[in-house]
Amino acid sequence: MNSDINKTLSDELKRCFGSAGCRLLSKGRVGLYIGLRAMDLPKGSKVLMPGYTCMVVPSAVQFAGLKPTYLDIDPETFNIDPSLLDSASGAPPSALIVQHTYGIPCEMTAIGGWAERRGVPIIEDCCHSFGSRYEGKLCGTFGKFAFMSGQWNKPFSTGLGGMLLVNDEKLADRVAEIIEREAVAPGRLKNLLLAAQIVAYQWLVRPETTAAMMSLYRLLGKLGLVAASSSNKELRGELPPGYLSTMAPCQIRKGLREMARIEENIAHRIELTRYYQRELPLIGFPVLSAKVPEGLPLLRYPVRVANKHEVLVQAKKHRTEIGSWFELPLHPEGTRMEEFGYREGMCPEADRASREVINLPTHLKVNQSTAGKTLEFLKRYARPV
Ligand SMILES: *Cc1c(COP(=O)(O)O)cnc(C)c1O
Repeated sequence: MNSDINKTLSDELKRCFGSAGCRLLSKGRVGLYIGLRAMDLPKGSKVLMPGYTCMVVPSAVQFAGLKPTYLDIDPETFNIDPSLLDSASGAPPSALIVQHTYGIPCEMTAIGGWAERRGVPIIEDCCHSFGSRYEGKLCGTFGKFAFMSGQWNKPFSTGLGGMLLVNDEKLADRVAEIIEREAVAPGRLKNLLLAAQIVAYQWLVRPETTAAMMSLYRLLGKLGLVAASSSNKELRGELPPGYLSTMAPCQIRKGLREMARIEENIAHRIELTRYYQRELPLIGFPVLSAKVPEGLPLLRYPVRVANKHEVLVQAKKHRTEIGSWFELPLHPEGTRMEEFGYREGMCPEADRASREVINLPTHLKVNQSTAGKTLEFLKRYARPV
């Protein structure tokens, strides 16, 4: 029964992205970890990535025995600046992670050309970009493999959870071997806990309650009372037990429900992205630059403000959903970035974006009226940079 629904969801995702293999896992980061291990890269070699990401990305790279190396972002796209690809000194990198931040596709022509000339394999972080396309081609189809997160606030949510899409038959076989040999399946109790959390999220988390609920969730997570996004151990850079785990049945079911309304989900995001794009200038805020293509299903609409901290405090008070990511070049606040090889000043644009950028939601629980209220809130409490 469980293996049936597993196959159904992974086959549907495979078809959607035209990939050679798809695996359902406990987190997106676990997909990155397994994919890297399957590639058999030289131990200790460098993996390039943007210095504007979740700390779980460099931590997965370290768990795989590799060295995260950061590139700064283009302030207009929030993605790796292709002109910096050759700036990393020393030994050549063994892989490059491109992250389509907020659902904005990376400049794949320039990046792909560079990678091909240098013989550096591309890995895609598609945690924000389900349904985004670059020149008509789906994000997730450009690299050796792509990983997606099924976390609460991601475009394709399985509660917690993650998906690994492999675009190469041989690599898919290696991935299968590693999973067969090492992966643990969540037990009955874990499945029950996750199922309860999925139901709670459905009922309790709305744009007006998001900030309060997320604070509560983080607190319960620290106390070990709910399945949290990252364990305390992981935040310190240590491999937590049961890291390499597969997706629980209740998460797979949630994934099938997401799949059933994926077209609606993407259309809704495109519509709200357009709405923010049209309305933001009317209240004095800049929109995304012309470098960013039109008609994208953004996960969040990024806006730079001069008073980020104050805006977030007021948003919580006024029950308005505003996102804070990324709070640091290696999100979230409190990450000991040196543990992951990041030094302040390494990526000045990422440092600045972390200080300035807030983001506006586009998910299905937000309609145009909520989005309008969010803009009224911004007009009142936020100052453009
Ligand atoms: C959420 C996120 C991840 C991690 O996903 P998990 O499922 O929590 O492991 C990785 N990269 C980016 C850009 C993310 O936003």
